[in-house]
Amino acid sequence: MPTSVRQPDVRRVYLETFGCQMNVLDSQLVSSQLRAMGYQFVDDWKIADVVLYNTCSVREHAEQKVWSRVGEVGQHKKQRPDLVLGLIGCMAERDGVGMIRRYPQIDLLCGPGELDKLPMLIDNVVKTDVPFRGRPSQVQTALQGNTHRRSATLAAAEDQLELLDLSRSFSPDEVSGAAYVRITRGCNKFCTYCVVPFTRGAEVHRPPDHIVDECRRLVEAGTQEITLLGQTVNHYHYDHGAAVTVDGMQQPQVGAAVKNKGNSFGITLGAVADSAFGRGAAGRRITSFADLLARIHDEVPDLQRLRFVTSFPRDFGDDILQVMAERPRICRYLHLPAQSGSNRVLERMNRGYTVEQYLELIDRIRASLPEVTLAGDVICGFPTETEVDHQATCRLLERVRYKNCFVFKYSPRPGTTAAQRFTDDVPDEVKRRRNNELLAVQSRVSQSVHNEYVGKRVRVFVESISQRARKEQQWGDGATEFQRVELGWEPPTTQLTGRTDGDLIVIFEGSPSWIGSIHEVLVERAAPLTLFGRLAEPVATV
Ligand code: SAM
Ligand code: SF4
Repeated sequence: MPTSVRQPDVRRVYLETFGCQMNVLDSQLVSSQLRAMGYQFVDDWKIADVVLYNTCSVREHAEQKVWSRVGEVGQHKKQRPDLVLGLIGCMAERDGVGMIRRYPQIDLLCGPGELDKLPMLIDNVVKTDVPFRGRPSQVQTALQGNTHRRSATLAAAEDQLELLDLSRSFSPDEVSGAAYVRITRGCNKFCTYCVVPFTRGAEVHRPPDHIVDECRRLVEAGTQEITLLGQTVNHYHYDHGAAVTVDGMQQPQVGAAVKNKGNSFGITLGAVADSAFGRGAAGRRITSFADLLARIHDEVPDLQRLRFVTSFPRDFGDDILQVMAERPRICRYLHLPAQSGSNRVLERMNRGYTVEQYLELIDRIRASLPEVTLAGDVICGFPTETEVDHQATCRLLERVRYKNCFVFKYSPRPGTTAAQRFTDDVPDEVKRRRNNELLAVQSRVSQSVHNEYVGKRVRVFVESISQRARKEQQWGDGATEFQRVELGWEPPTTQLTGRTDGDLIVIFEGSPSWIGSIHEVLVERAAPLTLFGRLAEPVATV
């Protein structure tokens, strides 16, 4: 074995993120913590002292990508045995023990609910002598295992998990024009195909004061657009004096709708509480999702755009629509996955609504917010899905007219009800064909939705230089602000990309100095996923 001697201090970290926005936020918070402790971040894993993969377990495909990275790092560790390899996030939580057995190159595992402990874990690995690494007993772990759905008190769980979000840095160096803010962790819905309730644990809602304060401080540091995050974001409800059950869930209010089945479609907890920032039936104060949206909008007046993902169709009450309709800086955009257009499949997925109820909700949304844009997710090839079910999903896409819809081929996830009870009986080639057919239907729908914007002016939050321009000018993704601006790598104008408040992607020519601000663009041309235009007139960013 090579006798590479470790440096006394680990300094260079490479962190790669897989999966959803929740993981992107977790990675930002982890980076903040590690930066504050003196770690530096590098873009090339081969020069790093610590390699971290923030992983996703939602589909098998996402896991396979991580395994191939772990294999590569394993080879590299033969030359650099002191290198620290850590897997954080959902894969670590889902299959921690199995991983340690199969991959001796892994030095640490940290679940998504334990990320505040990551600096300590890295430190512990560094202190472990290299020859002892890779032995299962030496792997540093922070996983919640089965306990995360059985916390004795919600308050205790909250205190611990809240630490990571509270550790956020508001330094202007780390704050950008757009930011994510978590409002709810975990999920209690238990859709039969989904691993999230097992990897991210029970639903826990963050205190509204913490959320509003985080939004205010982000905006003071320069953020213009905030996206609130939760797996079922509209299910947010904070009971300021909640009793807690032993499974870590808040006890339902009398008359409140917290189960996945029943007659409560479209009613939120806020709607049954008797108030603005209402009182629950037992007289306890409740902040509903509608209340929270209103508070952020009204108490952070310099915030230009407020959006939220992902909405769950069962909990979308009129109170939310009313708050949105009355507050112009809340984006008219909803990501509202239907998952299937067949009632039989929805029932097997345990989604808790029918196609008719979903479409009634879409009509209600469009009546309140005529300019709304919608995005969706559907899964094809769910066990027993027939051609008739599949055609029903195609019809749903045509009826709803999403601006875009993510189409996923069903992949059985270990531990989920679907994987345990249903045979994965739709052959892969059938899944692939249905996937392509759904994409083709959606592409036609997206083109027609985008066509409606041609000739109109839209307000665009400029996110970055377009990929095409970056390639042509060979800056690469890693070009820093200093290189681009101070060293004059930057032309006066280039192709920029940004989003409307309805989340439509817009490409137009402009100055790179506009990145992070809002400009008005005249749309000249539309493609299924993109609008193309030219600057109409700059809009002051108040
Ligand atoms: N909480 C969101 C909701 O319920 O709409 C979705 C969260 S999930 C992380 C993102 C998407 O992954 C889901 O909407 C679903 O379409 C897809 N997904 C989840 N589990 C899957 C599986 N086992 N196979 C294929 N797609 C899956
Ligand atoms: Fe998964 Fe369903 Fe929860 Fe979304 S609502 S995270 S699909 S269990």
